[in-house]
Formats: sequence, structure tokens, C-alpha cells
Amino acid sequence: MKIRTRWIFTIILCLLIAIPLAACDVSTATPSGTLESQNGVTIEGTFEDGAALEAVEVVGEDKILALQSIAEEKYDTDGEVYVYDISVVKDGAKVQPSGKVKVTVSVPDIDTSKTYTVYHVKDDGAVEKIKPAVQNGTVSFETESFSCFIIAPDEESGGETEQPKKQVNVSINILPLAECGMLKVNGTLYENAASYKTTHTEGERITVEAIATSGHHFGFWGEDEVLSREPVYEFTVGAENISFAANFTGHDVQYSEITDDAHTEKCKFGDYTATVAHTFADEKIITEATCQHAGEKELSCVCGKTKTEEIPITDHDYQDGVCSMCGKTQTYVRVNANGVANPNGAYIKMGKTYCEQVKDGNLENALMEKAGSPYLTLENWTPFDFGNGDSGENATTYYCDVEYNGLNYRGVYIKDYRKDNDSAQTTNSRYWTGTYWFEQRTAMWEIVKIEDGKAYLVSKEIWISQRFAESDEGELTYENSWIRAWLKNTWINELFTPAQQAILQGNENCFGDKIFLPSSSEISINAPKPFGLYKYPFCLGAYKEVLQGYGDNYCPYWLRDGVEKGTDGKNYVTCVTSKPPFDQTTKYLATKTFVGVVPAIIIEL
Ligand SMILES: [Zn+2]
Ligand SMILES: [Zn+2]
Ligand SMILES: [Zn+2]
Repeated sequence: MKIRTRWIFTIILCLLIAIPLAACDVSTATPSGTLESQNGVTIEGTFEDGAALEAVEVVGEDKILALQSIAEEKYDTDGEVYVYDISVVKDGAKVQPSGKVKVTVSVPDIDTSKTYTVYHVKDDGAVEKIKPAVQNGTVSFETESFSCFIIAPDEESGGETEQPKKQVNVSINILPLAECGMLKVNGTLYENAASYKTTHTEGERITVEAIATSGHHFGFWGEDEVLSREPVYEFTVGAENISFAANFTGHDVQYSEITDDAHTEKCKFGDYTATVAHTFADEKIITEATCQHAGEKELSCVCGKTKTEEIPITDHDYQDGVCSMCGKTQTYVRVNANGVANPNGAYIKMGKTYCEQVKDGNLENALMEKAGSPYLTLENWTPFDFGNGDSGENATTYYCDVEYNGLNYRGVYIKDYRKDNDSAQTTNSRYWTGTYWFEQRTAMWEIVKIEDGKAYLVSKEIWISQRFAESDEGELTYENSWIRAWLKNTWINELFTPAQQAILQGNENCFGDKIFLPSSSEISINAPKPFGLYKYPFCLGAYKEVLQGYGDNYCPYWLRDGVEKGTDGKNYVTCVTSKPPFDQTTKYLATKTFVGVVPAIIIEL
């Protein structure tokens, strides 16, 4: 199309030249090589004799046609444009100059505040740009050929070649849309959460339109400013990359009519009003609670309503057994069956007992060396009193406590079988003699029941065996029994520190005792607890029969409410057999030393 237009234009120019016009003038050659026309055009150069200048100012429709040749050029279309068709003729034919020619056109009304460009439109339609000199109402420039020249003012940029427009990245983070609304960017709909990342040209206009669903509003956020809260945000692409977020929001709520219980919420856009109960979601601590006193906190609703609340007194914060807040020594830890601390665990770790047999031969040798072998001398070994003459010089069992590498151990030396006056135990076949070592460990107790913040506990394992009474004769009760006195006066001190003893509660059903044998009702003898047994529970006399073919699960333990006279007039006591299913009872003479002891205690949690 362009080529065709120029071709037509060239033909028109030829016609213009062929037909003499009012503005046309012809000059004659001068010796100086300067040709002049009457309409103020001068050319300087080397011309043949007889050559004449023809300079035509093109006007009217022809001028409009001529300007089509530079329609794509950047010039000030509002300014005055001058078009000249300049040629040199000799003998009726056009001739071209040899070498450069200076052309000066007189333009008295030229605006000297502007710069100009001369567009030389050649016969083949090509456009050559020439920078002219503009002075005193004249425009002069150099050319090597003649045809159509258009003198046009430059655009305000001063006529320099314009910078190509920048391509910039426009990125809009379109935040959750699905439920909140849709977004249109330059007319294209974005229905789902997405990022709009597109290259745009500097100067381009972009329109972002938010279409919020009911109950939602919108905003356009720049890096740290709100760009717009209106549904349509328009902007012009500048030279820099642009990044902002289009974020739909809920109602822009304001609160009023605040009462003790409720507030009224109104959206400032007028599409929502409701009276709702306060939600005290924010809390600020005024005073921290400790194990010694309650604390206080202030709760507040988004509407500004506040209220204060007590923070309950806390548990002690034990660090290495000492409370970090009050310095109290820890008396017990509630744990799982595997011994891991758990505030709701079914077990309590409290007190210490020698319950872990040493199986390491090297350690046994080291302990034996420290204690002094009982086979050589009993100097460091204490006879254990089982009664029935089984004590002092006639003792069958000795013990020795040793501290080694920061841990406590107890050696138990079983010298001989016990003289229980039991026909079944008159030979060594039922007892193994020897020395055994046990490490002192924290004792585990099973929680049988919790009432009024008090827990009834029994030992998780059978750690020891003891006789119930010193004699099978006479009027035996639990109250006057030997085992009750031993529990209350001796074993309690071995198991518990004074601080631990301080939390022991007296059992109202057992003379207020703080450690006692369980009664059948206390441990629900019809569904008794399956007490675990220490594998070698003969520590200080626990029942050794388990080693002799009755299996590790079998060890009877005393009940305090089972004392009765046998047909032989002797005192017997009911025992629970700890063999599964743990619901069997049997009776043993009150002096039997092999019956296990399951101590029971009540602690305040
Ligand atoms: Zn609203
Ligand atoms: Zn409120
Ligand atoms: Zn404390």
C-alpha cells in the first residue's frame, strides 16, 4: 500500500512539474554557480550553462498528498509545514547536480523557536532526513539531488530520534478469589487465585476491576500503601516494573453499642449489621500465676471490650527435683507404665527401693570388693531379722548397702535356708544360697483409685517378703501385728524421704497409718491388680519359691483383713496369689517369711 501510494505521488509530482503553476518561477544560470528563483529559493553549486532553477511551493490538495509521504515520521503536525518541488532544467529536461548543492529557501514566517527537519522525498518514494540551518527567515540545507522537499517542525523532543518505549513487567498477585469474587484485568476475567504476570509497554493504560461477591470488599495494595479501595483501579505503566496485590477482604467492620455482653457490628459500606456476643480472643497477662498464687489476665474483644480473669495457680515446676518457683523438693512424679512423665499417667514414681538386680559380673565383683566378701567375713554385713530365731547368730540372710560411682546398691547374702518350721522348707532344695546385688531405683506405684485429690497407691512390684507376726500363737490382729510396726517404723524410712513422708495421708480405715497392707475391699479382691513381680524377688527375703519351679508370676502377698484361727488353733492370714488371673487367695501361717509385701499408701496429688 505504501509503495503504491508513493508511486502515485511520483506521477502527480511529474504532472505538477509539467503544468506551469502560479507559484512557479524559472531562473537563469549565473557565472558564480548560483541559481535563484523569484519565490525566494536559491541553490549554490556547479551547474551547466543554460541550466535553470524551477522551484514550486506545493499547496492545497497537492500538499496534503505530499505529506502522506512522511505520515509515519515524527514531526509536529500542528506546526506550519512547507513543501517545495525543486528541480533544475536544461533544454526542457530535468538535470541533477554534480556534487553537493546548497539550497536556501526564504520562509519569512518560520518559527525560530522550533527545530526543523527537511524530508527529501525522492522520486522512488524514499525519504531522506536532512538537518537544515534555520536563520533570519531562511532555511538552508545541502542535497545531492532534486525533487520534493518538505520542511517540517520537529516534535517537542527536539527532533532527536525517539527512545524506543520500554517493556515492563506488570505483576498482580490476585489473592483468594474463588469465594470472594473475580478480577478483570483489561477486560480479561480471573476467577481463581492466580498471579497476573504480563509484559506491558510503557505508557500503556491498565484497568483492574474487582467484582466482589456479597459480603466482600476489595483493596489494591502496593508494597506499603493502599493503592485503591475502589472497585476499579486504573494506572499507566511507567518505566519501572510494577507489582501489587489485589486482595479481597471481608466487611470493613466498625463497632458500636457495646454492652457487657455484646456489640453491634456495621460494615462501613452499609451492607452488613449484626449484634453479636463479645469474643474475648485476645489475652494479656497482668500477673503470672505461680505454684504459690493465682495470676490475672485481661481478655479483650475486637470491639475493645475487656474483662479480667483469674489464672489458676500452677503446678510446681520441678527442675532436677526442685520447684523453680518456690524451691519445694519434688516428692513424686506421675508417669506412664513405662516410667515416662505424664500428668494423667496411671503410675507414680516416689521413694526408693533396691529393686533392680545387677547382672554385670564386673560390677558385682567391684561391689563385693567394696563390701568385703561375706564368705570371708561378715564384718560389714547386717543380719536380717525374720523372727522365729532366724536372726542374730542364727540369721540366714544378711545385707550390706554400698555406694559405688554415685549409685546405691544393696548386697543380699543368703547363707542358709530359713527355719520356717514348715516341713516343705526343711531342706536346701527350696532356697538358693548365694550373694545377690540390687541397685536402688525410684519405686513405682500403681494408682488404684483417686478420690478428692487423693490417690490410693500400691507398689507396682513385690520388692520384699516378710512374716506377718512373730508367733502363730495368741490373739493376732493387724493392729498388734509385727508387720504393721515394721512398715510404720522401719520400712517407711527406707522407702521415703521426710519430705515424701509429709505428703502421705493417714488411712482412716487403718488406724490412720501412712503405710499399710491393703485390705481385700481396698484393692477389690474380686478384680485384684495384677502385680508384677521382680524377677528375683528375694531381695531381703522376698519369696524365693518363684525360682524353684512355680514360675515368676507366683508370689502370694498379705492382706491385712485376713487374720483367722485355723483348726489347729494357730493364726493364719489370707494372701492373694499373684499368679494370673490374680483372683486366687490362699492362707499361710502368720510367721511365714516368704510371703510378699505389697505396701499401700495414700498421697495427696
Ligand atoms: Zn460490607
Ligand atoms: Zn465485642
Ligand atoms: Zn512450687
